[in-house]
Amino acid sequence: MSRSVRTRPEGSGQALSEAYDTALLDLDGVVYAGGSAIVHAVESLATAREGGMRLAYVTNNALRTPDVVAAHLTELGIPAEAGDVITSAQAVARLVAEQVPQGARVLVIGGEGLRVALRERGLVPVESADDDPVAVVQGYGGPELPWGRFAEASYAVARGLPWFASNTDLTIPSGRGIAPGNGAAVEVVRIATGAEPQVAGKPLPPMHRETILRTGAERPLVVGDRLDTDIEGAFNGEVDSLLVLTGVTDGARLLTAPPRHRPTYVDADLRGMLTGQPEVVGAGEGFRCGGWTATAGTGELELEGAGGALDGLRALCAAAWTAAGEGACELDGGKALARLGW
Ligand SMILES: [Mg+2]
Repeated sequence: MSRSVRTRPEGSGQALSEAYDTALLDLDGVVYAGGSAIVHAVESLATAREGGMRLAYVTNNALRTPDVVAAHLTELGIPAEAGDVITSAQAVARLVAEQVPQGARVLVIGGEGLRVALRERGLVPVESADDDPVAVVQGYGGPELPWGRFAEASYAVARGLPWFASNTDLTIPSGRGIAPGNGAAVEVVRIATGAEPQVAGKPLPPMHRETILRTGAERPLVVGDRLDTDIEGAFNGEVDSLLVLTGVTDGARLLTAPPRHRPTYVDADLRGMLTGQPEVVGAGEGFRCGGWTATAGTGELELEGAGGALDGLRALCAAAWTAAGEGACELDGGKALARLGW
């Protein structure tokens, strides 16, 4: 819970599922990838829940409603209800509702998730800049969103209406590759108008606030795969975080993380929620974890010893982050990571 510069992953004598009361879980790359559950996710989440941990699913994707996300999770073998799902559509709807009169009309560029979230806040979604909206809100609309919707948003924003975006993820993973995300769509309107939207999604505070308000978490643990959304969002909210390596982050990216992207804990997958975390000990002369010792050498990170690959990575994080201080580590970690099989 500290904003001081993190220079190593922390240890925990207790299982994380006992040390924290609520897991704020990212979905893609953590719980599922495309249509399938990530390895060990189903049984790890079941065990954490049985142990009394509250599970909440936090997604920047504003397209799907919480009902649809919960049904998808349940189908994958992870029983969830709509109230367990928090979306950036809900976070942006609260942000809009705080700034416009109750019952106001809001021009929506996006999908059903956004419309439902606005109605939940007593706002009236409309489809045209000529329907007398008092604000514009933009969320991911899926691949079928017509280009004319961006024109509609641009007309309204150019008239001076406040403009909101659910999130600004530039890309969205699909089964066939990387597709443009809502951030790319927001750029279209930004280029056309020169205006700046207010943004709700991870890593920004409105999304974190929405999550805490809806879950009532007292000791939350953010669990994510992405440094610049999940982990930075936890940093901004001053909450501890667990990075799992089942998604977009690899060892090399983790070693070069600046302070706001450094997680509290690192583990391979969601089984890491159920165990304690080993401590990294030592300092400049050598950071030790398990059987490994990592040091910052001349121009590169050095690793000696043997043992589990994750312990080696934790030791390397300590050497890299300490050497980098408030910046990003510039030492080459390639050889050390290769020893660990990365
Ligand atoms: Mg993710």
